[in-house]
Formats: sequence, structure tokens, C-alpha cells
Amino acid sequence: MPTKPKETSPKKPVKEAPPKLPAKIVLTEGADVRELSEKLKIPPRSLLDKLEVKGYALSASDVLDDVLAARLAKELGIEVEILSLEQAARQDANIHAEDKLVRPPVVTIMGHVDHGKTTLLDAIRASNLVDKESGGITQHIGAYRAKFGNRSITFIDTPGHEAFTQLRARGAKITDIVVLVVAADEGLMPQSKEAINHAKAAGVPIIVAINKIDKPEANVERVKQQLSKEGLLVEDWGGQTVSVQVSAKDKTNIKELLEMIILIADMSEIKGNPKVPAQGVIVEARLDGKKGPLATVIIQQGTLHLGDAFIAATIPGKVRAMFDEKGALLKKAEMSMPVEILGFEDVPQAGEVFQAVPSQEVARRVVDLRLSRTKKQEPEKASHVTLDDLFKKMEEGALKELRVVLKADVQGSVEVLRELLPSLSTDKVKISIIHAATGQVTDTDVLLASASNAIIIGYNTKAGTATLDMARKENVDIRTYRIIYQLTDDLKKAMLGMLEPTIKETFLGRAEIRKVFKISKVGQIAGCLVTEGKITRNAEIRVIRNKETLHKGRIASLKRLKDNANEVLKGLECGIALDKFKDIQEGDVLEAYLMEKVKPSL
Ligand code: GDP
Repeated sequence: MPTKPKETSPKKPVKEAPPKLPAKIVLTEGADVRELSEKLKIPPRSLLDKLEVKGYALSASDVLDDVLAARLAKELGIEVEILSLEQAARQDANIHAEDKLVRPPVVTIMGHVDHGKTTLLDAIRASNLVDKESGGITQHIGAYRAKFGNRSITFIDTPGHEAFTQLRARGAKITDIVVLVVAADEGLMPQSKEAINHAKAAGVPIIVAINKIDKPEANVERVKQQLSKEGLLVEDWGGQTVSVQVSAKDKTNIKELLEMIILIADMSEIKGNPKVPAQGVIVEARLDGKKGPLATVIIQQGTLHLGDAFIAATIPGKVRAMFDEKGALLKKAEMSMPVEILGFEDVPQAGEVFQAVPSQEVARRVVDLRLSRTKKQEPEKASHVTLDDLFKKMEEGALKELRVVLKADVQGSVEVLRELLPSLSTDKVKISIIHAATGQVTDTDVLLASASNAIIIGYNTKAGTATLDMARKENVDIRTYRIIYQLTDDLKKAMLGMLEPTIKETFLGRAEIRKVFKISKVGQIAGCLVTEGKITRNAEIRVIRNKETLHKGRIASLKRLKDNANEVLKGLECGIALDKFKDIQEGDVLEAYLMEKVKPSL
């Protein structure tokens, strides 16, 4: 972490002239009081005093909760930007652009089911594996390297756009190039189109592998024509899209495909900084009966060494052993290498960022901080654009493009809306359709919208309950319409900031206060029994006494026994502390409900 050079201004106070405070400071997650005091240009002692007034007895080397740090700075009129450990590391890697080196491309294979993705991955693995001479059986660790001349290419072993977009929705950008497999006998199918749109939304270059050319019914020209309709004009049709005709079964033209991957990689300038602490993405993780937690990481920046301490979200660890795809032990892993790592304290989740840190102590410190944060507040969901806040985001200048995933009942409607919606663009905001298809709104659509900050518009179609749940979790706005003018009207209104969301109350449950506890610092806790439905942590609460509503507000804490709870069901006891209400009594009834924005729907 860069430390600022010490100020050399004269120390003798002529007259207590207050030092000029900075307008904005940048802190990295896990900063201690001393670091904040240096950045704020306030002596540690007076900062500690301020903290004490707030009820925090800390010392200069104590780690600061970032919410607290931000609050302190705000009181002084200073803006704070807090970078996560990973964001700070990424910035560090970019500062020294001169250290950046070309790294091997990371490739994901996509395409319609049965078009030959797995066969192609196997064909590449069988004939071009790095270190083939060293023998050993290939392990499936989630990714492998293939070689082409003296170059290497990393292939992700889980083909398909679902996994690709899922990683992206979690914030991990790992794929540099997409190979779209299209079977020449069947041609472009719905999932091929979906894959094209997912890759385009991610801004990742696409190479088309026209597969199964060994089949007598193969029709390569038809595939090229279909591709052109999706905006992928192949080179021999005068376009830019690289295509290679292959047979994964007969292993025809595999070398040509690899050559094209290298060509596109060179054109895209895929680089990373090898000199920073290693950063990567977890592509697969599992619990091994004998070895314990194991995870495959693809290194994106830096070099990972045996013994390095690291953190993956809230799981710390130390590299105890590293293996490549042949099961060979490694001492270090370089950029774009997939390595299976032993030494995680628990099984991490695929898609999480892997970050090497200076020591296990730092790892532990940041993990503790993150855990305390998730306990205190519900995990923050990424906020995505909605029609309701479109205008606000436009005004702030935060949004110049409204991205739409469009689903409709029939192809005719898809065609009409695909033309119509972009034509509503104004000079302030451009409406672009990132994916349009027939059928219901699916989980994959939600992930695509989440990863691309898009909204979903359904015309004469809807989403299943599970998909709606997922959309709620991912904060994705799904709007369904039956009448075109209502849809266009809403879009126009949203762009003018005139859309009125309607609010609906949904009843969740009831609890009776059996006993009131007074706890110093915390205040009143209502010892309750849930008598109906459930009480959830995020619910709004109505306090009812003698059938009269005394107060409406939110829950400050919900506990089941001693632990924080997200929800407590009927028949169970719980402790509820209310936000901003101090007059609860035994016998009061707490009614829980949710206020939800209701959108025009089917
Ligand atoms: P995936 O669902 O896209 O992973 O497709 P698979 O790799 O499982 O292949 C589906 C079927 O197509 C299998 O029966 C393969 O043997 C067959 N297949 C894959 N590639 C070729 C090819 O180049 N030629 C022929 N004739 N069959 C192929």
C-alpha cells in the first residue's frame, strides 16, 4: 500500500492554524486508525478521541470498519472512496503499465447443445496439451492449457454461456475469447444465438468453429448466412468474424482453430502485470475427502508462489501445494495458468476473486472485517438499473444507454420490438437490445441482465416463480406487457422521469410481545412469539396496541436465541429491536409486511 511522503512543513505551531483537510481520500479495506489519520491529516490521538465519543474504544493499530471510517470522514466534510482489497490490487496492477506483459488468452467454448463443445474440448486436450511429453493423466480441474507452437491457450472446461454469464454476474471477467461451436448440419439454433448475445454483451471477441464438417449433410454456407443475420459477418463474406471449419470428431483443423485464437489474442492485446501480488478467479472448487478444500484458480495478474497467503471473499488460506492439470506439483503459477490450490480454510465459491496478500495475518484481518460486516448488515446487492430510476441515473449522467433483454411469445413480436424499441432512443439515452428471443424469461436471461446492467422486457410472456425470485435476488427489473403501446409508453415516461411506481403492501406475519427487555446501549428488545406467518429482517413493522397502530418503521435487529436471523417462522420465539421506537409494551402486536413496487404485469 503506497504511503504518502511526509509533509515537510514547519512543525512549530505559530498559531493553531488547522491543517487544510483533503477534499477526498481513498482508503483500502482493512485500513487501521493510523492510516486513516494520515490520510485525513488529523493526529491519531484526536481521531481516537472522536471515536471514543462515538463509543468505540480503539487503538491506532486497530482495523477500521469502512462504514465507520466513511462516517468519520463525512463529518469532517471529506469524501471517502473505499476500495476493496481486490480493487486496490487491480489499480496497483494498472498503475505500472510498463510492467504489463502479454499473457495467454483464456477461452470459453459456447454453443447449442450437442453441437460438439465437449468433443471439441476433448479433441484439443488430446492432441495439444502442454507438457504432453511429461506423461501423466489429465485431471479435470476446471480448465487446461493447450499449446500452439511456443504459445499457450487456457481453455475453461465448463462449456456454455450459462456458466460464463454466471461468473460475469458475480463480477468475474475471466474469458478473453469465446469460441462459438455451430454444427454445420443443424445450423444456428436458439442457444447459439443466446451465446452470441452473451459474448457480445460481455464485449468478448467471438471465433466461430463450424463443426461436424465430416457429416454429409453439413452446410457451411448456410451457417455463414445465418451468422450474418446475427451480426457476425465472416471474413470470406467481407466481414470481420473469424471462422474455422472443423470436425471435433475427426480432429480436423484443430491446429487452425488454435492459430486463429492466437491471432485474435494478439489483436486484442491480452495483458497482465506479473509483478503485483497474484490475483485470479476461482473457476471450480470442491471438498476432497483426503486433501480437504481444493479450488482451481486462473491467475489473471501477478505470480502465485508456494506459501503465499491469500483470501477468497471470506475464506483465507495459504498455498500449501499447487498442481497443474496433469497433477504435477508447482512452485509457482504464472498469468493465465489454471492451478489447483490446496490450502483454503473452507471451500470457496466459483466466480469469487482470489487475492494474494502479504501475510496470513492480513488475510485473517480482512476476513474478520468482512464477516463482521455481513453479520451486521445484509449483503449488499449490486444495484442495477430499473425503469423507475432510469431518469435519475440519466440525470446523474451515470447512464447513457438502457440495455434491454427482450423476450416475446412469437418471432413476429420479437422482430417488431427489436426495431421499435431502439427507435425510441433520445439524445440523452440510447436503447439497445442485447438479447432478443422467443419464450419465457429464464434464469439465464436474468443472469445476462444482471451481468450487463440491463432490464428485461417480456411481451406476452412471463417468468416462472423461480426466475422471479432470482431476479429479486439479483436486483433485476423484469417488466411484462400485453399491449405494445403500454410498453412504449412506459419506456418514454421512464426516460422523462415520469413513471409512477405503484406500491403494494404484502403481509408477512405477526408476532406478540411476551416480554420487554431493557439492555443498555441497545435499548428495548421485544421478546416475541411469532403467531402467524414469519418475521423477516428486512420487513417493515407496524406496532399495534388495542387495535391501534402506534408506529410504523423498520427492524433494527432480529435475533433467534443469540444469533442474528434473517427470518423467524411461526411458532418460534425471537428478539426484535425496533428502529426509532422506544415505547413497546408487553402484549403489543408486531405486524410485519413488505412494501413492494408493483410493475405493470400480465
Ligand atoms: P455438446 O453438447 O455441445 O458438448 O456436444 P458433444 O460434444 O457432447 O457432442 C454431441 C454429439 O455430437 C456427440 O455424439 C458427438 O460424438 C457428436 N459430434 C461432436 N463433434 C462432431 C463432429 O465433428 N462430427 C460428427 N460427426 N459428430 C460430432
